Amino acid sequence: MEFRDLRTQYLKNKVQIDSVIQSVLSSAHFIGGSPVTQLEEKLADYVGVKHCISCANGTDALQLALMVWGIGEGDAVFVPDFTFFSTAEVVPWVNATPVFVDIDKDTFNISPQSLEGAIQEVIKEGKLTPKVVIAVDLFGQPADFPAIRAITDKYNLLLLEDGAQGFGGRIGKQRACSFGDISITSFFPAKPLGCYGDGGAVFTDNDEWAKLIESYKVHGKGEDKYDNVRIGLNSRLDTLQAAILQVKLRILEDYELDSVNQAASWYEKYLDNSVVTPVVKEGYISSWAQYTILLEDENKRSKMQDILRKCNIPSMIYYPKGLHEQRAFKQSAQYMKGSELPNTYYVSRRCLSLPMHPYLREEEVIKISEIIIYGRNYEA
Ligand SMILES: *Cc1c(COP(=O)(O)O)cnc(C)c1O
Repeated sequence: MEFRDLRTQYLKNKVQIDSVIQSVLSSAHFIGGSPVTQLEEKLADYVGVKHCISCANGTDALQLALMVWGIGEGDAVFVPDFTFFSTAEVVPWVNATPVFVDIDKDTFNISPQSLEGAIQEVIKEGKLTPKVVIAVDLFGQPADFPAIRAITDKYNLLLLEDGAQGFGGRIGKQRACSFGDISITSFFPAKPLGCYGDGGAVFTDNDEWAKLIESYKVHGKGEDKYDNVRIGLNSRLDTLQAAILQVKLRILEDYELDSVNQAASWYEKYLDNSVVTPVVKEGYISSWAQYTILLEDENKRSKMQDILRKCNIPSMIYYPKGLHEQRAFKQSAQYMKGSELPNTYYVSRRCLSLPMHPYLREEEVIKISEIIIYGRNYEA
C-alpha cells in the first residue's frame, strides 16, 4: 500500500499528462512561456485572488513574501510551533526572529488565543517589533482565519497564509491561499496539488507586492533580467511543471477533492471512535494533505506503527516535535518565546499520519482501520 499513491494518479491520467509533457519537449522552451502564464491565471482564478506568481518551491514563496514586506532584524514573526520546518526557517533568513505559538489541540492549527498571548508578551518585553503572523493550513484544513484576521487587524500585523498543505481547502465558499495579505502554496509532489519535482506559488490581491515578487524571483529584475534593481533570487517554476500542473489542477477540481473527502469519511466510519480522528471545523473543507490520528501516548504510538509496518501499511509521524525543540532554533533564548506550548507537546507525542490520497479504496480503509482497532485491543 502507498502512503500517497502518485503512480495510480499518473496511470489514470497518463494520456493527458504524457501529451502536455510531449508538447513542452516539442516546443523546446523550458523556462517561462505560455504554460506558466496560463497556469498562473488558472490558479489565481481558482483561488479567487488577483495575482498568482509561480516560483521554485513553497519555501521560496514564503521567503519572497517576507522580502517584499521588508521584514528584517528586530522584527517578530509569529509561527505555529507544530508545522513543517520551512514555515519558520525563512524567518532567520531575513534576519527576523520567529516567535513560536501553540496550536489548537483539535485542529492542530495555530491557536488564536495563544497567538494573542504571544503578541502581547513580545510587546511587553519591548525588544522586538511584531510584524507578521504566518498561519499554516496544516494537513489540509484552513487555519482559523476569521479569528486570526481579527488579531492581525487589532495589532496591525501582516498575515501570511502558508497554504503549502492547504490548496483546495475552503472556509465556506472562500478558498485556501486567499486568506493572507500574501498566501503561498507548494507543488512538492506529495502536496494536495503536486507537480513532478519542486514548485510553488505566491498569491496576493496587492498590485505593488505582486510586481515586487515578480522582480525578486528573477534576480531583482527591473526592465528585464539584465537590468537588476535589487538583490533577489532565482526562483522560477519551469515550463514542464507548469504544463503538468494544469492537468493536475483540472483533476483536483474534477474529482480528487471529492475522492479524498470520501476517504476521510470512510476512516471516520471504520475507525469508529477507536482512536482520536481529525476534527474539521464546521463550515471548513479540508484538502487532506494528511490524515492524522492521535494515540494515547508515545509508547502506544510506536507499538501501533510496528503493527502497521508488519502488515505493510505505511504510516508517518508528522511532526515528532515542536519547532522550538529543533536544534536549529535552539541557539538563542529569544526563539523560545511563548514557551508554554503544551498542545504542541501533547500532539507531537501522539500523532500518527495514515495513508491518505484520492485513490485510496474503501477496502483499504477497512483493512487499515481493522488493524488499528486490533492493535488497540491487543495493547489493552
Ligand atoms: C511542504 C511545506 C512547505 C515548503 O514547501 P516546499 O515546496 O517543499 O519548499 C512549507 N510549509 C509547509 C507547511 C509545508 O508542508
